Amino acid sequence: MAGQTVVIAFFFLFGLIVGSFLNVCITRIPEDVSIVSPGSRCPRCQTPIKPYDNVPVLGWLWLRGKCRACGLPISPMYPLIELATGLLFVAAFVEFGITQATVKWLFFTCLLVILTVTDLRVRLLPDLVNWPGFVAGLLFSAFVPPNNGFASVLAGRLLQVRVPGFLAGILDGILGAAFGSFLLWGLAAGYKAVRGHEGMGMGDVKMMAMIGAFLGLRGTFLTLLVGSLLGSLIGVALILALYLGGWRSGVAKRASRRGLGTERQLRWAIARQYQLPLGTFLGIGALAIVYGGPLVAQQWPIFSGIVG
Ligand SMILES: [Zn+2]
Repeated sequence: MAGQTVVIAFFFLFGLIVGSFLNVCITRIPEDVSIVSPGSRCPRCQTPIKPYDNVPVLGWLWLRGKCRACGLPISPMYPLIELATGLLFVAAFVEFGITQATVKWLFFTCLLVILTVTDLRVRLLPDLVNWPGFVAGLLFSAFVPPNNGFASVLAGRLLQVRVPGFLAGILDGILGAAFGSFLLWGLAAGYKAVRGHEGMGMGDVKMMAMIGAFLGLRGTFLTLLVGSLLGSLIGVALILALYLGGWRSGVAKRASRRGLGTERQLRWAIARQYQLPLGTFLGIGALAIVYGGPLVAQQWPIFSGIVG
């Protein structure tokens, strides 16, 4: 038991340190700045951050969320992401032990954390994460196949051939990527045809290809299901909150004075234009499948063929 605690503590600390690197990726990749150098500095006074202030979570706490030199507030996003990454690393150990699968799901988790938070912050899903992530997903799937084995079943039933394990894993990844990206691409095209403007970008489509390469067909389907459900629920709630909270009511008032409609209609129209971070919901969906799936299958065996 004591050994177990030590390993959990190790995974947690390792996750905190990785989380602090993910913060660097999240803030620098969208701005096309190198993630290696220079070291972190304050965006206002340019003072380099001291190594002892750069300790995950604790650094932010003892600085009380402010730059030591000029007092510029530091976003609580940084310690929160470090903490979340630490907890996800512990979850990976608890569910998958110390196995090849753990390496695969930890790598996938890091990609998802970067994309989820980047989309939330700046509404971008950088190619620099999507494409290498897609390739890595296929490679990982060769060693740790997505756990539905759909490709080998398909090949056995339809073509009467036995596919070697590593190839079946890659094929499952390709199936998942194709299914996820085409479905989302179709939805995007349909949305544009109905609403007359873009509802989601190609970034979401590429992100689904990356997720599919890791999760295979079934996991990709479940991710789309959970992600879009979450997106619709939170999306509707958010748009209602923006409307009721009087978001951009000044713009609506002016437009209404120019006779473009009643103020309430215009406020509703403006709130509905709010761009939702679909990539964030898809990322949370994929994390829920990786970490929640095996738990659900264990708790309720009736779902075991579906989710885990
Ligand atoms: Zn400063």
